[in-house]
Amino acid sequence: MRVMKFGGTSVGDAERFQWVAGLIAQHRAADPQLVVVVSAMAGVTDALIRMSQRAACGEPDWRAALTALRDRHMRTVQALGLSEGEAWALQAELAGGFERVGTILRAVAALGELSPATADLVAGMGERWSARILAAALRALGIPSQAVDADTFLITDDRFGEASPDLEQTRARARAVLLPLLEGGILPVVTGFIGVTPEGRPTTLGRGGSDFSATLLGYALDAEAVWIWTDVDGVMSADPKIVPNARTIPELSYIEAAEMAYFGAKVLHPRTLLPCIDRRIPVRILNTMNPQHPGTWIVPEPQGNGQVKAVTLIKNLSLITVEGRGMLGVPGVAARTFATVAELGVSVLMISQSSSEQNICFVIPAAAAARVVGALRKAFEREMARRDIEDIWAMDRVAVVAVVGAGLRATPGIAARVFNALGNGRINVLSIAQGSSEYNLSLVVAESEAEEAVRRIHSAFYG
Ligand code: ADP
Ligand code: ASP
Ligand code: MG
Repeated sequence: MRVMKFGGTSVGDAERFQWVAGLIAQHRAADPQLVVVVSAMAGVTDALIRMSQRAACGEPDWRAALTALRDRHMRTVQALGLSEGEAWALQAELAGGFERVGTILRAVAALGELSPATADLVAGMGERWSARILAAALRALGIPSQAVDADTFLITDDRFGEASPDLEQTRARARAVLLPLLEGGILPVVTGFIGVTPEGRPTTLGRGGSDFSATLLGYALDAEAVWIWTDVDGVMSADPKIVPNARTIPELSYIEAAEMAYFGAKVLHPRTLLPCIDRRIPVRILNTMNPQHPGTWIVPEPQGNGQVKAVTLIKNLSLITVEGRGMLGVPGVAARTFATVAELGVSVLMISQSSSEQNICFVIPAAAAARVVGALRKAFEREMARRDIEDIWAMDRVAVVAVVGAGLRATPGIAARVFNALGNGRINVLSIAQGSSEYNLSLVVAESEAEEAVRRIHSAFYG
C-alpha cells in the first residue's frame, strides 16, 4: 500500500482537482491499496490565518475575505462537472464549514482575542474543504472515495501551531479508521496539516505540515512508500525560484533531506522524514504537472556521497551576539544564554562561538529578536554592569545559507570553494557554523545578498 500526498499547489482550481483525480485513478488501477492526503487549495491557509488575525484586531475586512474564499470553493465545485445531486450535497457541506468559520470569527472579533486552539481550528479548515472536493472528483471518475478528517485519528500534543504527534496512538487510531475503508474498497482522502489533542482540541502540525501528515500515515499503515506530489520535479539542488538552472537530485538520504528541509527547502516540511526512518519507508517527491519525471527518492542508502547536493536558504532571521572581553572568566555564559532563549520557547537555528570565547552568536527567527535581547539583558544584568559582558544585540535582516550533502566534513576543499564563490561576489559572511553536523556548512549573510549567495555557491558546484 502507498500513501500519496498532493500539496496546495497541485489543487489550485477545478481543473487541477480533475487532473489530480485522474493521476490517482491511474495509480489506483495498479495499486488498489492507496491512501491520499491533500492540502488546502493554494493560498487558502494563508487567507484563513490572515482572516483570524484581522478579526482579532477588530478589523471588519475578514468578512469580505471569507466571502471571497467561499465563492472560490463554490466556483471550484461548480466547475468540477459533478452530477447535480453530488454538486448540491458538496456545496451544502462546504457551506456548513464556512458558516462555522463565520461564527467563530464573529466571536473572535467580539472578544478581540484569538486563542491558539481557535487559530488552529480556523487555519485547518482549508484541508477539510479540499479533501471533500477531491473525494467528489474521484467519485465522478467512478472511484468509491471518502473524505476523512485527520482529527479523527492524528493525536498530537497541545503545542498549537506546531504540534507534535503521538506516533503510537496515531498509529492505532489511524488503522482503526482507515483499514476498514480500504478493505471495503473505498479510497480515503485524508486532510493534511491537522490533528487533535487527546482532549479533542484542534491542532496543526506547522506550516507545510501536510507532508508530515503523509509520512505519519505511511508509518501508521506500514506503507511500502510515501509519494509527495508537488509543483517541481522533485527535490532540487536549490530552490528553482532562486536558481533557475537548479537540478533534480535523484536520490537523497533521510538525513540529507531532513537537513535540507530544516535549512529552508520548502519542498518538504522539516519533520517529514522522521516517521519513515526506523521503518526505512522510502519517500518519493514528484511533479503533479510533469508526472513522467522520475523525481527524487529519499532512501536509507543513496548513491553519490561526499558531495554537495544542495544549497538552501532561510530568510527573516536575526543574528544575536553576546559579547565581552570578561566573558572568558564568567562560568556558564553559554548555558545561561541558551537556557534564557529556551525559556521563551524560541528555537535557535545556528550557533557559533569564537575560540577566544569573547562572543557567542546565534540565529533566531526575526520575530523573536526583541524579546530575546530583552530577556538576555535582564539575565546578564550584573555581568553587564561589571562590563564582563559589554553588549548584547541583534543584527536584523540576515539569512542562513546552507550547503548540504553527506560527508561534507570529510571532503577537502568544500569550504574554500564556498568562500571563494562568495568572495568573488563581494558577499560578506557574518558568521559560520560547521560541525553541528557533517551534513552541512551554514553561513549567515545579509538578507539583501542571500539569493545572490545561493546562486554563486550553486554555480561553484553545479556550473
Ligand atoms: P506544496 O503545495 O506541494 O506543498 P510547496 O510550495 O510547499 O508545495 O513546496 C514546493 C516549493 O518548494 C517549490 O515550488 C519550490 O519553489 C520550493 N523549494 C525550495 N527549495 C527547494 C528545493 N531545494 N527543491 C525543490 N523545491 C524547492
Ligand atoms: N495548507 C497548509 C499550509 O499551507 C499545510 C500544507 O500545505 O502542507 O501550511
Ligand atoms: Mg508544502
